[in-house]
Amino acid sequence: MSKKSRTMKSKTSREDLRKALLSWFDQFQREMPWRHVDNPYAVWVSEVMLQQTRVTTVVEYFHRWMERFPTVESLASAPVEDVLEIWSGLGYYRRARHLHRAAATVVDEFGGELPREVSKLRKLSGVGPYTAGAIASIAFGQVEPLVDGNVTRVICRLYARGGDPTRSTNQKWIWAKAKELVDPERPGDFNQGLMELGSEICRARNPKCPKCPLQGWCKGLADGEAERYPEVVKKAPQKPMRGATFVVHRRPERGGGRQFLLRRRPAQGLLAGLWEFPSAEAQGKSWPGIGELSAELSVVTGAAVDEVGLGRPLGQVEHVFSHRRLKVRVYDVETSPQSPPPQTDEQKWRWVEEAQLSEVATSALVGKIEQLWRVKIAES
Ligand code: SF4
Repeated sequence: MSKKSRTMKSKTSREDLRKALLSWFDQFQREMPWRHVDNPYAVWVSEVMLQQTRVTTVVEYFHRWMERFPTVESLASAPVEDVLEIWSGLGYYRRARHLHRAAATVVDEFGGELPREVSKLRKLSGVGPYTAGAIASIAFGQVEPLVDGNVTRVICRLYARGGDPTRSTNQKWIWAKAKELVDPERPGDFNQGLMELGSEICRARNPKCPKCPLQGWCKGLADGEAERYPEVVKKAPQKPMRGATFVVHRRPERGGGRQFLLRRRPAQGLLAGLWEFPSAEAQGKSWPGIGELSAELSVVTGAAVDEVGLGRPLGQVEHVFSHRRLKVRVYDVETSPQSPPPQTDEQKWRWVEEAQLSEVATSALVGKIEQLWRVKIAES
C-alpha cells in the first residue's frame, strides 16, 4: 500500500468515525448468546470467560454455566467445588474463583444487583478496568471505555502509535483515546464493535484494511505500515517443568466399571483445588516427592508399595500454562480393590467412576493424560 494512494479523511469528525463503526457492527457482528440479553450477570460471566479464551470455546461453557448458575444468588450459594467443576477445562481457574467470590459480594453488599458504576464494579474480586468497562457500557449503557488486546491494536494503528503498548504511559494514552472515541449514545455497541473489528478485520497479521470501516481515519494504513503497530513485545520464556503422573485404576470386586484415583491439589498455587491423577514434580535431576507419593498411594489403594511402584510407563504429555511448560511422564498403575476399603481423606483422595471422570473439576492437562492412557491401553 503506497503512502500516496492513501489519504486520511482529515476533516471528518469523530462522530462520523463512530457512525461508521456502529453501522459496520450492526451489519457484521457475530451472533453470541450473551448479546442482546437484558441480563448484566450474563454479560459479566461472558466477559470473564472470554478473557484468554476463544469465543467458540466459551459458547458451550457459557450455556452450561448459565444453566447451572442462572443468577448471582445461585452462584454465590454454590460450593466452590461445583463452580470449578463447571469451569473445568476452560483454564485460568482463578477466574472462576473470582467470579464465585464476587457473586457473594454482590449478594452481601449490593442486594444481589450488580452495581452500574465502574468505581463500584472495581471493588468486586477479579474485576479490573477492562471487565468493569465492559459491564458498565454493555450491560448498563454507561459511557465508559474499555481496552483489551483487540482495542489496543485498532487504536495503535488508527493513530500510528509506536512503543511497547503494555508500558503504563502507553496504556494511559490508549485508555484516553478509547475514552475520547466511545459513542455517548451506544457505548456498549461501540466498545463491542471495536473489539469485533480487532478480532475479525484489524487482525494482528494481514489486516483486512480494504474491508475496514475505519480505513479513512487510519494513520497506520495511510503511512502504509499498519502492521508495524502495535509494537510486538517479546514474552518472557516459559519456565520448563517436569513431572510424573500415575493413572491409578481398579475394577470393584462387586463388578461395575473401572474407577480412577484422583488427588486434590493444594488450595493455593498452580491449579489450586482441582483434582488430578496423583503426580510428583521434579526438581533438577531429583524427584523429592516421589517417595512420599508412593507411600501415600500404597495407603490409599491398600496395595503394597512395591506393587504400586512406578507403574508401567506409557509416554509423555506436554502442557503449557501461562508461564510454564510442563512435560509429564505418564505411568499406568492397576490395583485391586481392598476389602474393607482403606480409610482415606475424602477431601484429598477420590475414586471416580470412569463415566464420571469428565464431570470432576480437573484441568485440561488431566484430559490430555487420560487421552494418552486410553490410546496406550487400547494398543496393549
Ligand atoms: Fe486496522 Fe487496517 Fe482498519 Fe487501520 S484500516 S484500523 S490497520 S484494519
